[in-house]
Amino acid sequence: MTYDTNNIFAKILRGEIPAISVYEDDATLAFMDVMPQSPVHTLVIPKSPAENLFELDLEAGKQVLRTAQIVARAVQDAFKADGIMLNQFNGPAAGQTVFHFHVHIVPRYENVPLRRHTGDMENPDVLEEQAEKIRAAHAKL
Ligand code: AMP
Repeated sequence: MTYDTNNIFAKILRGEIPAISVYEDDATLAFMDVMPQSPVHTLVIPKSPAENLFELDLEAGKQVLRTAQIVARAVQDAFKADGIMLNQFNGPAAGQTVFHFHVHIVPRYENVPLRRHTGDMENPDVLEEQAEKIRAAHAKL
């Protein structure tokens, strides 16, 4: 498959649709997932185009993992999760619905099941409030 420049994350990167960002650097962007599987579910994407793991430039992959670590630390500091899960799906059969490489950062709590993947939309005010706490935690770490 060839990279579709009109996928929703490419549009976010071009500023054509909004996202609630929590961290950004030259190579990556992290933002709130609008259909969280657990509270404070975020996504990290490379700025360079890659549909999936097979297309991913390893330097971009390194930058994504670095950002995932930064965001996970801030989420952990602000929300005290029992655990943090990283997910990454390749291909529709594996659950991929947006065809720009991304890593999910999903806080987990003892005995709290995950919500459905791409299930209910979260209230944007709630997402903004959570994002602000992540940004504040990152600023002090
Ligand atoms: P995947 O199914 O692994 O491709 O993940 C795509 C993720 O993107 C899902 O968890 C969706 O909830 C999330 N998502 C879809 N559209 C948006 C959007 N506009 N802003 C933020 N997250 C989104």
